[in-house]
Amino acid sequence: MPISDSTVSRFDAEVSSRVVEVRERIAAATARGGHGQAVTLVAVTKTHGPEAVLAAWRAGVHDVGENRVQEAEDKMARVDVPVRWHLIGHLQRNKARAATRFALVHGVDSERLADALDQAARAAARTLDVLMQVNISGEDTKSGVEPGAVSALAERWHALRNLRVMGAMVMAPLDAPEAVLRAVFAGARHARTVLQHAGHPAPWLSMGMSGDYEIAIEEGATHVRLGTVLFGSRVSPT
Ligand SMILES: *Cc1c(COP(=O)(O)O)cnc(C)c1O
Repeated sequence: MPISDSTVSRFDAEVSSRVVEVRERIAAATARGGHGQAVTLVAVTKTHGPEAVLAAWRAGVHDVGENRVQEAEDKMARVDVPVRWHLIGHLQRNKARAATRFALVHGVDSERLADALDQAARAAARTLDVLMQVNISGEDTKSGVEPGAVSALAERWHALRNLRVMGAMVMAPLDAPEAVLRAVFAGARHARTVLQHAGHPAPWLSMGMSGDYEIAIEEGATHVRLGTVLFGSRVSPT
């Protein structure tokens, strides 16, 4: 459906002003936290159309996150701006080949998936940057490697020559008290240290969504994944 120019520019202006405000909050949280990290704002465009990707780009956001491969590929085909695509959701092994189109795969949570991604990356003649998803809160509904298993898995991932393990990713429980959020984020920070001790570069920590990104940054997040706070509520939440 064609959308009029004025609709486009109103949406763009809205996203732009939200980006400005979020960037201010990111800067303030970084200063409060004292970790001194650079923070990448990943605009989560899932359930929104390609115009959300364009609005993010025009607002100076060059990293875009999607949680489904198919939806991401549809948008990749429909925008011509060179954003970096992040795959942030749970990934099935049979989608590993498509995952090599992304700049960073956030949710790698098993040896089998890591193997499949490594093979796919080799076939594509590239090195794929990945994050190990850890399940700090221990919720059954969350994917992720158990904290106690991070070290052993990190050792085994050395064999995967076409993957570069860039850090840890975590999803905090929704609406948890601040103390719980901080404990989860600190746990993810510790998991990253374990990855580093195992010899992976692991400079990054992907944590923080619309409801908790300032706390995540105070706890050291280098990548925040923000949807609602930039684009409004999703039509069909996923
Ligand atoms: C949807 C989603 C987000 C963004 O959530 P908001 O609360 O809308 O900011 C972040 N991370 C993951 C993995 C998601 O699926």
